[in-house]
Amino acid sequence: MSRLRVAIQKSGRLSEKSLDVLKRCGLSFARSKDKLFWYGRDFPVDVLLVRDDDIPRMLLDGVCELGIVGENIAREVMLERESESQLNCLRKLGFGHCRLSIAVPENRDIAGIEALEGTRIATSYPALTRNLMMQQGISTSIVELSGSVEIAPGLGTADAISDLVSTGTTLRANHLRELDVLFESQAALYGRVNDISDEKKVLLDRLLARLEGVMQAAESKYVMLHAPREALEKITELLPGVEHPSVMPLEGSDRIAIHAVCGEAVFWEHLEALKAAGASAILVLPVEKMLA
Ligand code: ATP
Ligand code: ZN
Repeated sequence: MSRLRVAIQKSGRLSEKSLDVLKRCGLSFARSKDKLFWYGRDFPVDVLLVRDDDIPRMLLDGVCELGIVGENIAREVMLERESESQLNCLRKLGFGHCRLSIAVPENRDIAGIEALEGTRIATSYPALTRNLMMQQGISTSIVELSGSVEIAPGLGTADAISDLVSTGTTLRANHLRELDVLFESQAALYGRVNDISDEKKVLLDRLLARLEGVMQAAESKYVMLHAPREALEKITELLPGVEHPSVMPLEGSDRIAIHAVCGEAVFWEHLEALKAAGASAILVLPVEKMLA
């Protein structure tokens, strides 16, 4: 019987959440001793644990059909290999958020990235940086470094850097200032889906349907409340991402119970607005699974 292989990061920022999302799709694994290959028990999907940088190449080389990796790395490899069409982004996963930013020494008076024309930029993402700068009509010379990019300006080997940022702490610690964002990234499920067998395609579609349910459930909340009958329309408007709530009469009362799955985040502000519209006994519950 056909099986699919999905590559995830062995240890790093994406590892735990990558595994978690697979588990929430109902997958479980027999872990091998060397811990590099996990056999899928309940669903024919096996996991390969590798360095994140290797994932796009493994997909392109046919070692696996699926991989979870940052868009930053996938885009870099696609540009490098000019093979955009072979790697498909199947689903963004909502974690591993970061941005590829241009940063310059704090003490340099640089107004915008246009001023970087003809300068040297240190980065671990040469193809992506060159491409995105070119799109803005700026040509630079790229100094490719595999790590510790942030120390390059201090060492005098580059005038600016293009590096991944999430909080900006590393930049500040190195006296760098974020000048502009080139690319926003998050983790995504990538696949080589054009040349796989029909059997694998069926498996892939089942997995993707589950993943869609998992992602939707993670974003959804089940809201229950009581409200005056005449407030139904107003309350429905106030429930984020809801069009048709379930409405039930309450015995011996002129109030009704309203239940709804909110497709968007529910904040305290929403609850306060509901209360002001006459709602009481408001409960917000997490949604575990969803299948449309
Ligand atoms: P590996 O050993 O697998 O090569 P790594 O050191 O390259 O690990 P991590 O630092 O774990 O990788 O980052 C993995 C991914 O996490 C990045 O490619 C990026 O998509 C994402 N990420 C999120 N926030 C950040 C951040 N602040 N800095 C770097 N990467 C981040
Ligand atoms: Zn890496």
